[in-house]
Amino acid sequence: MDRIVYVNGDYVPETEAKVSVFDRGFLMADAVYEVTSVIDGKLIDFAGHAVRLERSMKELDMPEAISMDDLLAVHRELIARNDLVEGMIYLQVTRGAPSDRDFVFPDPEETKPTVVLFTQAKSLVETPAAEKGLKIISIDDIRWGRRDIKTVQLLYPSMGKMMAKAAGADDAWMVEDGFVTEGTSNNAYIVKDGKIITRHLGNEILHGITRAAVLRFAREAQMVVEERSFTMEEAKEADEAFVTSASTFVMPVVSVDGVSLGDGLPGPVAKRLREIYIEESRKVAV
Ligand code: PMP
Repeated sequence: MDRIVYVNGDYVPETEAKVSVFDRGFLMADAVYEVTSVIDGKLIDFAGHAVRLERSMKELDMPEAISMDDLLAVHRELIARNDLVEGMIYLQVTRGAPSDRDFVFPDPEETKPTVVLFTQAKSLVETPAAEKGLKIISIDDIRWGRRDIKTVQLLYPSMGKMMAKAAGADDAWMVEDGFVTEGTSNNAYIVKDGKIITRHLGNEILHGITRAAVLRFAREAQMVVEERSFTMEEAKEADEAFVTSASTFVMPVVSVDGVSLGDGLPGPVAKRLREIYIEESRKVAV
């Protein structure tokens, strides 16, 4: 597969794409990212991802890298050039590559942000994981305190996925001060007596774009939503559970720390929300 990727204004074959060794994304994880899913060759929740990108950059004092209109145009161009029907577009913006390594931020007049985008073809709607549901384990949340900023500091989440794999599970939920924060790369939910419970927004979790849409659809469908912290003990007693993210939509969870939920199959609330999310998002995809 020789993808066409976008690097700082140019569309180039992936094998020819280059970023400096002095790039602060590479040296210091001084970078933010977004992942936007594509169904039927169209972008899901593009505006939400674009707005969050702008916010992440602002929180880190990064200068503007690309206008929203141009960003949409680049996404569309990559879809066209790579014939992407279903999958994701990964976008990363770093503080750029100064002339030398230094902890101090470079002068934004001299060092422009690095902007990279690439496509990832993947079947998202029809996937075995959605039929089977995920097994998750819990791990300590030892990440930094600004998880609301979508930075590329993904080492611990990667380690979390490896810990899950080693334990024979699919993913991990992170726990801080006794409460679940979120999944390694998704927001976490339990369902009890028909109520959908998910952690309230704050600096402790990423404000998922899929989370916002799913909670809106749930409320529109007259489901009860409680935005509050929950424990792993509560999760083990739940009727069902699920996670949300741009690349998995609504994904059922069937066991937590080895305890099967309900009948051990994807629950009705998660299945219904997955259907609604895919159907409604498709209608307004751009
Ligand atoms: N939390 C974390 C830690 C994540 O990495 C992600 C996905 N990148 C999410 C939540 C879900 O966010 P979104 O729905 O915007 O993909």
